[in-house]
Amino acid sequence: ANVRAHVIGNVAFDETISVSAMPEAGASILGREETRDLGGKGANQAVVMGRTGLPTTLVSAVGEDFRAQTIRNQLALEPVETKLISLAGRSSDFSIIFTTPDGENAIVTTTDSAGSLAPEEAIAALKGAKAGDLVVLQGNLSEVTTLGLLQEARRRKLVTAFNPSPLRPYFAAFWPLIDIVFLNRGEAENLTGSSNGAATEWLLRSGVRHVVLTLGGDGALLARQNEPIAAIPAVPAKAIDTTGAGDTFMAVALASAALRGVELDNRAISHAAAASALTVSRRGTRSAFPTSEEMRAILAH
Ligand code: ATP
Repeated sequence: ANVRAHVIGNVAFDETISVSAMPEAGASILGREETRDLGGKGANQAVVMGRTGLPTTLVSAVGEDFRAQTIRNQLALEPVETKLISLAGRSSDFSIIFTTPDGENAIVTTTDSAGSLAPEEAIAALKGAKAGDLVVLQGNLSEVTTLGLLQEARRRKLVTAFNPSPLRPYFAAFWPLIDIVFLNRGEAENLTGSSNGAATEWLLRSGVRHVVLTLGGDGALLARQNEPIAAIPAVPAKAIDTTGAGDTFMAVALASAALRGVELDNRAISHAAAASALTVSRRGTRSAFPTSEEMRAILAH
């Protein structure tokens, strides 16, 4: 089938600082840098897809600063073709994550670059895409850029996959242009008013072809037009840090089906569950994702 995935989304540099307690307004406190890692939902999904062996391109905007070079260096270590669009006068996106000894997180993320990627630039990056290729999108780009990409994908007969995260008020116009949606409980509740099979029905009625609702440790639902809904269990894991679990799940499910030349099926969802069980059992973002070698073992089942 020779499908290529084109992931268009954000890349961010995550810096995790451990503190004894969350800082309060006006306070100056000491912290210890715990991890620095590549993050951002677009980059996460592209890295995981690349590690499955599916030919993958990441299209992302970065600013003109020292973080852009670090982002470039880290992505160069991954089996992903990277098209970084450098935006003059902008700063690269980053997250500052505070963690406390009791495992609490507070995260501040900037979206100057991802939010400034213009529709023309994003669409131009799809130039080499061919019919049947995957276009993978999340909620970090602007409304016009996301809508422009979805319309272009439809015109070119590309398969569109969307993860409505972070939630934005403007997703309603997207559904008829989306082939496959992956969402979690909170997103389902917010967008459809329920977080079970009724949410998948709602999205199918809105024009989406395949819906995958992830339910944390309770597994996932796969709903397709004119087929009975399937419930696929999670793979038991000792969850230490769930950052990137949803991104791992989406990327592996899409890649598993694309590598076999089939539509999303139960086996793809089981592969995704096995891969995200590894991600939740490790700390960090990029460093927690299954390696290429682990991915080969998962996809062989
Ligand atoms: P995150 O925001 O933490 O990246 P998410 O909220 O988008 O994740 P979830 O539904 O929480 O998505 O998790 C995605 C998938 O990860 C689940 O369907 C499951 O396969 C796996 N997973 C998550 N939590 C656990 C867990 N505690 N044990 C085993 N698997 C898990």
